[in-house]
Amino acid sequence: VKLSNGKNTLDKDDDEQDYNSDDLPILRALSKQSRDLITNRILKEKRARDNALPLERLIEKNIFNTWRCREERCDNRRGYCFVLKSTGQHYKVITSQQAKWAAAITKNHRGATLNQPPYNLIAQFKDREGL
Ligand SMILES: [Zn+2]
Repeated sequence: VKLSNGKNTLDKDDDEQDYNSDDLPILRALSKQSRDLITNRILKEKRARDNALPLERLIEKNIFNTWRCREERCDNRRGYCFVLKSTGQHYKVITSQQAKWAAAITKNHRGATLNQPPYNLIAQFKDREGL
């Protein structure tokens, strides 16, 4: 059946089938603008949750960001290395050490900062062979 605007009713049915049938019917009924608003709202809430991470998790994240190894010649490249400034030696930082590091910063312990692991961790690093 041709309508005056040149579209027939079949075209209209095809348009409606563009939406994923997995979508909630309520979302399907909304305009694209409304759906975008909802998507933005969900993303905003997700960001808010991320910002609400416990301090220690945030610090861990910062340690990760600060000490990601970018040295081409290092075997642990793209992993995490603490680089001892005085020697340039790379020490692989494993997850459990990162957690201890973050905990030490949180408690303001053993001289730990984002740029300086706690003393006991530095000792651990030095006990192992550097990379
Ligand atoms: Zn490295």
